[in-house]
Amino acid sequence: MKKFKSVDELIGQLQPDKPVYCIRKRSIQVASKFFQEKFPGKILYAVKTNPHKEVLKTIIQSGIKQFDVASVEEIKTIKQIDPNLNCSYMHTVKSRENIREAYFNYGVKDFSLDTKEELIKILESTNHAKDLNLFVRVAVSNEHAEIDLSKKFGALTSEAMGLLRLVKVNSKKIGLSFHVGSQCMHPISYAKGISEIVNIIKRTKIIPDYINVGGGFPTIYPDLVPQSMESYFEEIKNSLSKLKLEKKPEIICEPGRAIVAESGSTIVKVNLRKKQKLYINDGTYGTLFDGGVPNIVYPTRLVTNGRIISKKLTSFDFYGPTCDSMDYMKGPFLLPNNVKENDYIELGQLGAYGLTFRTQFNGFFSNEIYEVEDNPIMSLYNQDAKNQFLVA
Ligand SMILES: *Cc1c(COP(=O)(O)O)cnc(C)c1O
Repeated sequence: MKKFKSVDELIGQLQPDKPVYCIRKRSIQVASKFFQEKFPGKILYAVKTNPHKEVLKTIIQSGIKQFDVASVEEIKTIKQIDPNLNCSYMHTVKSRENIREAYFNYGVKDFSLDTKEELIKILESTNHAKDLNLFVRVAVSNEHAEIDLSKKFGALTSEAMGLLRLVKVNSKKIGLSFHVGSQCMHPISYAKGISEIVNIIKRTKIIPDYINVGGGFPTIYPDLVPQSMESYFEEIKNSLSKLKLEKKPEIICEPGRAIVAESGSTIVKVNLRKKQKLYINDGTYGTLFDGGVPNIVYPTRLVTNGRIISKKLTSFDFYGPTCDSMDYMKGPFLLPNNVKENDYIELGQLGAYGLTFRTQFNGFFSNEIYEVEDNPIMSLYNQDAKNQFLVA
């Protein structure tokens, strides 16, 4: 992967016509280390967030050796890097073929489920293996999350209690897990999830080997400024301290966004300006999916190339390159008032849910990926980041 000192240097040298994607390894290292030092348990990186090889290798080199996967392809990606890395298959709905392949070909032992039907599938597909670690996923409120997962996954408390009893007699180790939804804007959601788990433990009198608090840890966007990551960890520690058990369950988390979001930027070029609308060369069928219906507002920075730019920032909305009207990003994205055709714009916080969403739709696909060494536009971890949007 070719390396540049900064996004500006990259643009100066390449003058790219296609969208370009940048990876900052240092940012991945900072976030990975932060979690390993401060989270009170084990870290599983959620592979779907950014499965690029260089990203995964950087995470591994930073000390994270276990991965939350949801498909056999993701397992293969991890095992190709190092067959000794551990994969936990935390999708609650899997095909029998995928369960079989994961267990027999790749030695995966950790599976999650939220129905009795799935439990039967797992048991039958592994020929009733005796070395399974099964996680019952409990549905919890996703009220503080930008992206709600609670309607698709999770068992209600009453169902979870029945499942836990069944899992207890059918697996080596048992876990209880939840997911507060992605980009969770309030630590209290984790406290509520843990209290749900405590409730299940009290009522079933079954002590799990693992409590998995899932992902959902936030990053920082111009309009979504969370409390510090420490306050999320404090909330989790405080809630867990209410659990008075002789044998303490092992705590697990599955962060995705919080580990990699800051590490990635997409550099786009303006093809046309129509008043406050910018037609750019990447969109919702490229790396900017979350800017579409989920309406994530990425931090923006006009790369000046020495041009004098207006100090006045105004709001723009973005249109992507394809012919589809869904290829639209409402923003508002703040940029200097005199932005014009052929300008380059850096869009930040795209290390999570960026690269992985690209499609070939309409013939627009860019695989131009480079490493850069400058700071991200915004950061929860790094005080040197420009964080210019915090004043806005
Ligand atoms: C997507 C996902 C994650 C990661 O979520 P983030 O919000 O990116 O931290 C973790 N666990 C599971 C089961 C997921 O589906």
